[in-house]
Formats: sequence, structure tokens, C-alpha cells
Amino acid sequence: MDLPQTTTPLDIVIAGAGIAGTSAAIALRLSGHNVRLLERVAAMAEVGAGLQVSANAGHVYAALGMGEALVTRSVPPDQWIVRLGKSSERLTAFALGRPHLEQHGFPCCNIHRADLQDILLTRLDEVAPGALHLGSEVTGYDEDDRGASVRLANGQSLRCDLLVAADGVRSPIRRQILGPDRPEYSGNIAWRSVIPAERLPRDFMADDHAAWVGPGRHMIMYWLRNRELLNVVGLVESDIDAEESWTVQADWHEFKRDFEGWHADVQTVIDASDRDTCYRWALNIRQPVHNWRSERAVLIGDAAHPMLPYLAQGAAAAVEDAAILMRVLADPGDVPAALERFQKTRTPRAARVVESANRMRHINHMSDEGELRQAIAKSADLFADRDTWLYNYNPMTAPLA
Ligand SMILES: Cc1cc2nc3c(=O)[nH]c(=O)nc-3n(C[C@H](O)[C@H](O)[C@H](O)COP(=O)(O)OP(=O)(O)OC[C@H]3O[C@@H](n4cnc5c(N)ncnc54)[C@H](O)[C@@H]3O)c2cc1C
Repeated sequence: MDLPQTTTPLDIVIAGAGIAGTSAAIALRLSGHNVRLLERVAAMAEVGAGLQVSANAGHVYAALGMGEALVTRSVPPDQWIVRLGKSSERLTAFALGRPHLEQHGFPCCNIHRADLQDILLTRLDEVAPGALHLGSEVTGYDEDDRGASVRLANGQSLRCDLLVAADGVRSPIRRQILGPDRPEYSGNIAWRSVIPAERLPRDFMADDHAAWVGPGRHMIMYWLRNRELLNVVGLVESDIDAEESWTVQADWHEFKRDFEGWHADVQTVIDASDRDTCYRWALNIRQPVHNWRSERAVLIGDAAHPMLPYLAQGAAAAVEDAAILMRVLADPGDVPAALERFQKTRTPRAARVVESANRMRHINHMSDEGELRQAIAKSADLFADRDTWLYNYNPMTAPLA
């Protein structure tokens, strides 16, 4: 696919080299802008966890030259299968892989985050060598009619035409634009663990996307990296005081306790989890906001639309942002007008995704088993509905506001 080429290259500083910032840097560079990608950490660390990439995001990776690598390094799930946590009774199952590809033109991919990060950083190095600056923490910015001055923690200030804030949920730029953050604890915590296949029984499970459900909790399992690793996420209603952080280790015994009495397969994955690498974090709700910009700065990714993980769409929405930002900036005229167009295009869709993820929280965790069965019986309809607005969206061609 030919990407739009700008006639007026801008100097763009991007804060944060996560999925949002790195894909934006690649997209903006490929359409002719000069980019500097500033990342706070001194060395990029691997996050051991899986990520689902649906077609709405897949189209962007493909357009930016990463589609083949993404597909090759992923495991496509065959079917979505839901079982009762205690008995393993199969509540529903329907094909996921083939219909997704046939309807939306890109497969559903389950990939290790470290592999996706490697694909992104390799591509960045190809298209914008030297653009990534590690150990560069952005603390804020000033702006005037002609551009922005980005402030760094080391006292430096960088001048640019535009600041793109892709610095995640605790973004200082988000605070500067929106004021103090007001997260509300969702009542749910999430466990994550990635288990080497050799620790599990042979043929432990098929290439499915498996959800084990029960009152107040559920567990998701799927294969990663050529089926060498099993990704496990356990979501539990809890009133413990946990941190909102991907990297906080927690006591394996508590993980075990949270799924006590559940089926032997669930116990097998918990028992096979590394005692020292079980992570737990608190899931917070932030209501959608519709102001993502000032005159010379704009929020993307989790900095713009943090969401609960129940739709597996946070990273997908981040790459949608990157594509739309590239398109509105191809012929920017004046930068604030382009940012306004970006905001008008993106905020309604992002709000819909955030609100849908919030609703899923209730569906996944019904306290009554009868209600849970009814909700699960309708989950094929829920997926079919997502085919009509979520997965069928192509950010490379969708209308701009
Ligand atoms: C349990 C769970 C499962 C999920 N599963 C999925 C899934 O299957 N599919 C999906 O699409 N999404 C999923 N998500 C959501 C997804 O992980 C996030 O939405 C996505 O990673 C956000 O990317 P980001 O680049 O916006 O932010 P981040 O990943 O937070 O990256 C921000 C970057 O900015 C850097 N940074 C921070 N502050 C500064 C600063 N001041 N200056 C410079 N750099 C800074 C950080 O070090 C980091 O590198 C899941 C989330 C959770 C919690």
C-alpha cells in the first residue's frame, strides 16, 4: 500500500517508545516527517506477556511493512472456547481464526509482546536509524504559534513543530492537557504468567483461545511463539490494595488461592508458573475523554484512551491512532487544524471501545452461574457484533472527520 507523502515535513518529537509511540514514529517517518522518539528507560526491557492483534490493527502493521513478520511470529487461534472454571464443562465454542481472516482480510494474531516490540524496533531502525533516544524522560512542554519546546528530566529542552505524547497511562503530558488523573479502581486485579510448554503435559491444549469462567473470576489461555509458551491471564474480583503496574511481582500462593477449587487444567498452569515471575496488577477505570490536544501537542495510545483489557483492544487502538495521525499530518496545512481533525476522527471510536470494555467487565464476572451461562450463550452474538464495527475498521482507508 502506498502511504501518503507529506509536502511539508514536520519536526516531530514523540514521547514513549511503547506500541503507540514506536508505530507512530515508523508511520510518520514513512510519510516524510522527521521524528525523534524519546523513551524514559535506559534499556528496553521485555514484558513477558501475550497480546492479541485483531485485523483493525493488523492492517496498520501491514501498511507499515511489518505484516509478514507479525503473522510469522504469531500463533493464530483456531476457535474461541469457553469452559466453566470448576467442571471444565464446555459452554460455547466457535471458529475464530478463519472467519476473522475471511471477513476482515487480516488474521487474528496472538503474539508475545517481546516479539512485537522486536518487530517494531527493527522496523524503526530500518526507516529511522538513530531516531530512538533512550534514557530521555519528558516532563512537560511549552508551546507558541510556531511550535513546542519539550522539557526533559535532564534539564534539556527540545524544539519541535509537534509533540506526540505516547507515554502511557501516567503521561505527564496527559496531566498537562487534562489536569489531574481520576482513576477509579475497577474492583478487578489481573494475574499474568507465561509458561514454557515443556512444563505442561504434551498436547495440553489446542490452538484455541480458551476462557475459563466462574463467578467473580476468569482465566484466559492461549499459545505464543510457535506454541513454545502458554500465555495465562487470570482476572479476579478483589478488594486487595494492588498497584496499577505491569511489573509488580506478587506471591504465587495468592495466585493459587484465587483459583482454588478450579479444574485440574487450571491448577496445572498455576503449578507450572514460575514462582518468581507471577505478576499482578490492579485494573483501573478511566472514563473516556474527548480533549486529546493542545495547539502543538497531542495524546495517543494509553495516554489518550486507557481502557480495561477485556476487549484486548488497547494496543490495537494505539496503532489505529498512529495510522490516523499519519494521514491527517500528510497535508497538515496548519498543525492545530490537523490535530483537531485527528481528535474528531479518533475520540468517538476510542470512547466506544473504552465503554464496551467496561461493559465486558460485568459480563465476564456474573456472580450467579445461571446468569453467567446465559451471558456466555450470547457471546457468539457479541463477537459477531464486533465484526460489524470493531474488527472491520481499516484505519488506513477509513473516512477522516
Ligand atoms: C492484562 C492486559 C492485557 C492486554 N491485552 C491486550 C491485547 O491482547 N490486545 C491489545 O490490543 N491490547 C491489550 N492490552 C492493552 C495494551 O497493552 C496497552 O493498551 C498498550 O500496550 C498501550 O501502549 P502505549 O504505547 O500507549 O503505552 P505503554 O505500553 O504504557 O508505553 C508507554 C511508553 O512510554 C514510556 N514513558 C512513560 N513515561 C515517559 C516519559 N515521561 N517520557 C518518556 N517516555 C515515557 C514508557 O517507558 C513506555 O515505554 C492489554 C492490557 C492489559 C493490562
